[in-house]
Amino acid sequence: HVDVMTALVSFDRVFEVLDLKPLIRDRDGARALAEARQPSGNGSGPSLTKAPAIEFDHVRFAYPAADEVSLASLESIARIDASPSKEVLFDVDFTARPGQLVALVGPSGAGKSTITHLVSRLYDASGGAVRIGGADVRDVTLESLRAEIGVVSQDAHLFHDSIRENMRYARPDAADEEILAALDAAQIGGLVAAMPEGLDTVVGDRGYRLSGGEKQRLAIARLLLKAPSVVVLDEATAHLDSESEAAVQRALRTALAGRTSLVIAHRLSTIREADQILVIDDGRVAERGRHEELLLEGGLYAELYRTQFAQQRDEVRQAEPLGAP
Ligand code: ATP
Repeated sequence: HVDVMTALVSFDRVFEVLDLKPLIRDRDGARALAEARQPSGNGSGPSLTKAPAIEFDHVRFAYPAADEVSLASLESIARIDASPSKEVLFDVDFTARPGQLVALVGPSGAGKSTITHLVSRLYDASGGAVRIGGADVRDVTLESLRAEIGVVSQDAHLFHDSIRENMRYARPDAADEEILAALDAAQIGGLVAAMPEGLDTVVGDRGYRLSGGEKQRLAIARLLLKAPSVVVLDEATAHLDSESEAAVQRALRTALAGRTSLVIAHRLSTIREADQILVIDDGRVAERGRHEELLLEGGLYAELYRTQFAQQRDEVRQAEPLGAP
């Protein structure tokens, strides 16, 4: 039955509908996040600079499936919204309080990236709500929402262009002094200063080759320049030498201070510092708590720790003989 109906839809029509799929757009009367965050609406104030809470209120989510999208085109576009496919998140419920670092850990495919996508509203939840500073992300303009969120993905994308232009991507009007300050804070100022052309040095495959750790620090410098109040970060899994590792860690600590952050964590040091660890398994929050508490529970976290994180502890100990006993 479904196949027959789908076959009636021409290919062109399917793609036309798929192109229309970005149903993620501003609703009528959407307000800037800064306004929506202030119920009293008394203009700009110091509260605007304070980091907001991120709330997942019983969030459910399914990625829309292409065949269901084409089927829906036979009826009305509005149906696309209502045609769930594979459920990926079930009743995800948590709050990252202002300034908190929340670490997401869990097996591959559990739904960690999907959770971070919903914060920047790349998709809308199929049930429940995602709120930032108390404002439902569907009620605020996408522009103001995304201006407030700094996203750092696994492999930082660098343009084949100068370091200055790569940094200005985060804030087009940034002055050199601001760029240099951000590079310093991200532990990469010294390296850039030592380059023959400084900020004019062209980076990328055909330019100055940065190591994995250097790219990550440049991405963090960009984040610092953008200065968002919310950070969504997917930590790189790539193994860094212990010196880069320590530099990235220092850079991260600066970048996340005073911001509310959701981090897909791969580093032991990050999960130990997290105010809250959410163990995501099969689209649900399976366990939550701090490192020590979760270890004592002896559940999925304890197992992940043994298989993924404990070996990093040994590496860190070898690199820092004066560290913790
Ligand atoms: P990993 O640690 O491997 O990155 P994850 O915990 O981040 O995994 P997600 O990427 O959120 O997991 O994926 C959760 C589920 O959603 C998986 O079953 C995945 O196949 C599915 N999925 C992810 N992205 C899409 C998409 N764009 N369309 C359809 N399904 C998707």
